[in-house]
Amino acid sequence: MAEEATIFDKILTGEIPADKVYEDDDVLAFRDINPQAPVHVLVIPKRRAERFAELKHSDTGFAGRLFQGVSRVATELGLDDDGYRVVVNNGRNGQQTVEYLHVHILGGRGMTWPPG
Ligand code: 5GP
Repeated sequence: MAEEATIFDKILTGEIPADKVYEDDDVLAFRDINPQAPVHVLVIPKRRAERFAELKHSDTGFAGRLFQGVSRVATELGLDDDGYRVVVNNGRNGQQTVEYLHVHILGGRGMTWPPG
């Protein structure tokens, strides 16, 4: 597995700036640089994992805290009433481009299904 720092490692350390919207002990959330919806935020765990696939090896608390963070961010962003989409792109076929596990929150418009 690649261990070199990704862009999200650098956002976490502050080496690269980001428009942060939420932070707690477990997660950091910031706006996507190339938004695909009026609200498009990325939530990353502060403890790095590369892929969703790693969750089966992690303690259940890790996954739980990540998704609790996602839920809190969505609430902070005022998305609960209208709803939103939560996406994890995983690996090549999932179109994952940054090898640091992250959760997309997309909101502010109606989504379509299925995704392309
Ligand atoms: P993926 O395709 O891996 O699921 O999503 C990576 C996301 O990271 C993309 O939506 C892309 O726009 C976003 N992204 C890439 N580089 C940066 C950056 O430097 N800052 C921010 N805020 N988002 C980034």
